[in-house]
Amino acid sequence: MRSFNGPLGPLSVAMVAALFVLAGSTPADAQGPDDDDRPTKEPAPIVTPVQRAAPLARYAAPTPSNGFTALVDDAAAFARKLSGADQVAADIVATQAQLDAISSPSSRRSASAGRIQREAERLATLATDLPASLSADELDAALEVRALRTGLQARLDALTAQQDALSRAGATALPVATTPWTRPAQGRVTQRFGPTSLRVEPARVVDGVYYAHYHDGLDIGAEMYSPVVAAAPGIVTFVGSLTDGAEVVFIAHAGGYVTEYGHLDNYVAPPNVAVGDIVSAGQVIGRVGMTGNTTGPHLHLEVWHDGALVDPLTLMSR
Ligand SMILES: [Zn+2]
Repeated sequence: MRSFNGPLGPLSVAMVAALFVLAGSTPADAQGPDDDDRPTKEPAPIVTPVQRAAPLARYAAPTPSNGFTALVDDAAAFARKLSGADQVAADIVATQAQLDAISSPSSRRSASAGRIQREAERLATLATDLPASLSADELDAALEVRALRTGLQARLDALTAQQDALSRAGATALPVATTPWTRPAQGRVTQRFGPTSLRVEPARVVDGVYYAHYHDGLDIGAEMYSPVVAAAPGIVTFVGSLTDGAEVVFIAHAGGYVTEYGHLDNYVAPPNVAVGDIVSAGQVIGRVGMTGNTTGPHLHLEVWHDGALVDPLTLMSR
């Protein structure tokens, strides 16, 4: 596993909050992909792992095995860590808000409750034992606030330690994309995902069914050198060429998704991102080209989730 430590570094709670804001998301909607209110999707087809051209790294050393599958696995492992960091960051923000609420004047619901609350807060911060002169209400409230604050502080400390560990491991908090993904190139879909009659595409066994030719991604025909953008927020895990000459960028996304952008130009306008870069949805990462096996300028977009290929269009239309 490569280390992504260098360009990322530890994140403070404030930076995490800023990331949520930057990505146009709030902690409240930074939920996993399994929300109940999400329309039910067709299960993603399970595609047998395939032999693909090996990566030739230009900006970063690939994993020792150098296989295409290893590259996907590497990015997928990173995407899983991103999801963990995302949840931890959301928990930290929520816990911090609860702690703040304990001391917030807005939490005082009535004048009499407010008086008890204020007294409870004052007493809860005392290191000494609570005075015996308290009324039963005041004592209850003080003990409750003290227990709440202690519990929340312990939880916050544990979450912060967990986030530090994730940060050292190279993961950082990014929101799960809950809105439709951005189409990464402007142009006509020239080949959809799935079974095809095109003989250049390899054979696949999907859900036990054999297909003589299967297209692993979505092809978007586009002008040479037109911009290619990230489909969702994520972190770049690979930039370089495959042995067939295709220039590719891999991005890991929270939620366990991995995207590969293929046939990018690498002569006139090579990819403008590097491993470890945090990219937002719609951010330019490279330009449409003709590297690798292609008859014309187009983007080949491949999406993986938990080790299986996914039809990219399902993520752009949800
Ligand atoms: Zn393709």
